[in-house]
Amino acid sequence: MDPIIRPANPDFRWDGVGVHPYKEDQLDAEGRPIFRAITRQTLFSEPVLGCELRYFEMAAGGYSTLERHEHAHAVMIFRGHGKCLLGGEVRDVGANDLVTIPAWTWHQFRAEADVPLGFLCMVNAQRDKPQLPTADELATMQTDPALAAFLAPLPNPATSP
Ligand code: MN
Repeated sequence: MDPIIRPANPDFRWDGVGVHPYKEDQLDAEGRPIFRAITRQTLFSEPVLGCELRYFEMAAGGYSTLERHEHAHAVMIFRGHGKCLLGGEVRDVGANDLVTIPAWTWHQFRAEADVPLGFLCMVNAQRDKPQLPTADELATMQTDPALAAFLAPLPNPATSP
């Protein structure tokens, strides 16, 4: 790998690093966008390391995909604050907090309504494709009040027209 120094730019951007918005045309089991207002920047992707470090940022009110997979994540919150669903728990997270996401653990990040949330995510370069919850799995999660409140910005399939 080549020696590289990439100067940081304002607004959590870096020289030579592309900003990739996620297309919001992928829908979950109930027809809702699976993520909202999120961008990905791949900061490091060197085959010799076997891992990648990405920077994800959600605008205020945005959220990442609710998903699980075989591969693990090591996450450091980088800016702002929001909430994180991790397994059966919902927690507040803010800048500099560390989040370990083991294999097959449901996870989702949400920015607060009025502030962005950015995090660094370390992941294996070779990894399996994330699974999304089925309608049944989503319904099961929503029997827990904390998870239901966390998922509330999504329309409730039981009450939406
Ligand atoms: Mn993931």
